[in-house]
Amino acid sequence: MKSATTSGELRAHNRVRLLRAVHDCAATRTRSQLTRDLNLARGTASVLVAGLAEDALLHEEPASGHARGRPTQVPGPHPLGPLALAADVREDAWELAACELGGRATVLEVRPHDGTPEDALASLGRAVAGHLSRRVVGVGVALAGPVRHDGLVDIAHLGWRSVDVPRLLGLGSADVPHGLGPDQVAVGNDTALAALAEARRGRLRGVRVGLHLHVDFDLGGVLVVDGRPLAGASGVGAEFGHMPLGGGDRPCACGATGCWGQEVGANALLRHVGLAYGGGRGRRQAEEVLATSREAVEAGARALGLGVAALVNAHDPEVVTLSGLGAEVWERAGEVLTESCGSALMAIRRERPPRIEAGALGWRGALLGAMESVFDAFLTPEGLERWRETRPDQGADTPESRNVTHYTL
Ligand SMILES: [Zn+2]
Repeated sequence: MKSATTSGELRAHNRVRLLRAVHDCAATRTRSQLTRDLNLARGTASVLVAGLAEDALLHEEPASGHARGRPTQVPGPHPLGPLALAADVREDAWELAACELGGRATVLEVRPHDGTPEDALASLGRAVAGHLSRRVVGVGVALAGPVRHDGLVDIAHLGWRSVDVPRLLGLGSADVPHGLGPDQVAVGNDTALAALAEARRGRLRGVRVGLHLHVDFDLGGVLVVDGRPLAGASGVGAEFGHMPLGGGDRPCACGATGCWGQEVGANALLRHVGLAYGGGRGRRQAEEVLATSREAVEAGARALGLGVAALVNAHDPEVVTLSGLGAEVWERAGEVLTESCGSALMAIRRERPPRIEAGALGWRGALLGAMESVFDAFLTPEGLERWRETRPDQGADTPESRNVTHYTL
């Protein structure tokens, strides 16, 4: 952010800082703690909080367990405040959630799809359109393939080639009430978004150099430096799954041979026991293999460990985090993974190998990363100003949430 020069700019800058701090701490810190964290004067903080409450951006609640004296206030999301819609589009289903500032997410819908871009994205677009309101400040969508900056995605093993995600979602059309502008639809890779979420509110928080691996039907990986997943020059950098790191030699749908992602994940589990695999089908059977075939799990853990070692040799991360099926493989066969990784580490790395851990956010990482990408665009002086101009009428526009699951991070 450029430095603020006028008093108006300084105020706008501090409004963003305060909301960002509330969001990043999951609305757990008291007003006085935030005042100290942000090095604000007490009076300045009071004026900021009052202004943000008036704009339906913040709402204070008394801290729980406060016994005596004036209750300590904890700033959190306003009941009529901004919402980010976040979607995780997997190979066989998508999940859509509404997220408040602070990161509380309410799952709105979960729907299976047939693996085609038309069914997956048009159905998601219709669901999103049904949940749009003036409170919705943007939509973030996580996808299981490389995503270019213009929202084109390729998912080789589903046969998706240069699929135009924003066009198929169809949210900019004049027919959609409360339709969104192109800058309010953020499309990203699921691994990079899961890594972003771990960096913001999980095990990569405060880590200078981390490696995040997300495993589902196959595997994706990304390096995270100072809290930012390295996306590459055109946005498609997070593709460790398509490097020959797992010891295999099969041709991959991406066009390369011996890709690591072919040896780790649901497809590899299914293949190991001779079941049909591919096309994003067979999740339930893969879960069964995970639970019953020690041999298949260990083969996956060994391939995962080999690739982790190669990436550790290259990048020297402090910690390696695993999400999705990766966390389950770690839980079931962590010692096999560690041993396999150790065997392929350079001698100079063996003395202090990086920690390998399951991520803190489990299967929700990609969804929460999609939320972060929406709030990153919103939490700017321009985003808050636009909110003020189009502020919902009080009481006229309460959120619709068909509660499937409600959870707080
Ligand atoms: Zn490949």
